[in-house]
Amino acid sequence: MRAKLIAGNWKMHKSVDQGLELIAQILEQYPAGTNIETVVCPPFPLLVPIRDALKRSSVKLGAQDVYYRKEGAFTGQVSAAMLRSAGCQYVIVGHSERRQYFNEDDNTVALKLRAALDAGLTPIMCIGERLEERKAKVVFDVVDRQLRIGMSALSAAEVSSIVIAYEPVWAIGTGETATPAQAQEVHQFIRSEINRRYGLENAGKIRILYGGSVKPGNAAALFAMPDIDGGLIGGACLNAIEFIQIVQAAEQK
Ligand code: PEP
Repeated sequence: MRAKLIAGNWKMHKSVDQGLELIAQILEQYPAGTNIETVVCPPFPLLVPIRDALKRSSVKLGAQDVYYRKEGAFTGQVSAAMLRSAGCQYVIVGHSERRQYFNEDDNTVALKLRAALDAGLTPIMCIGERLEERKAKVVFDVVDRQLRIGMSALSAAEVSSIVIAYEPVWAIGTGETATPAQAQEVHQFIRSEINRRYGLENAGKIRILYGGSVKPGNAAALFAMPDIDGGLIGGACLNAIEFIQIVQAAEQK
């Protein structure tokens, strides 16, 4: 069985002190012995202090982005090896906000995935359609293109080691969530495409998260779907009580 994964994307929120306070609250309430894998993804300057705060816990650290070059004169960028040395195990790649505000395309996502894996990081590759694409009924075409190009630099064996996050753009930060059935339909499509291209074993292993206004009230129904392996959480992960309730909603009884 695939272990469920809950990842919190803090986006551009929290100072170092505020971040440490949030982590302290999360750890205080974190369910002991849970079978959920939990990751927090704070902004870059918070990574090292939060790594230290997480030392005696099972909560893991991730970053929100990575640059694909190894090193050099790329002012403002952060490499995968740097993230690894700062204690990260995961990195979010191709978030829709990166695509929308920083012009990232599927080819950039492919380079970032390659760089992350080469440095020993697990990429969480975000894909998902915009509202006009859903209305135009091209959801599967969009998701298929994002998958095909995004994963183009990976071997079949590497495919199952990454995490995919299906995040319909119209559901991110809007309070509007895909229904469990809408999400499951796309998750099932993603898994079937992976089966077609990379085989049944890889399709069975790869974890596919849902993201888009996941809250304590809708989390359990989403996570109960057969192809939804957890969630990428934005807004609700900034509140320790809500984040923990979402982790608990994912627990496999
Ligand atoms: C996200 O940013 O990945 C996200 C899913 O945000 P929210 O939960 O706020 O919709």
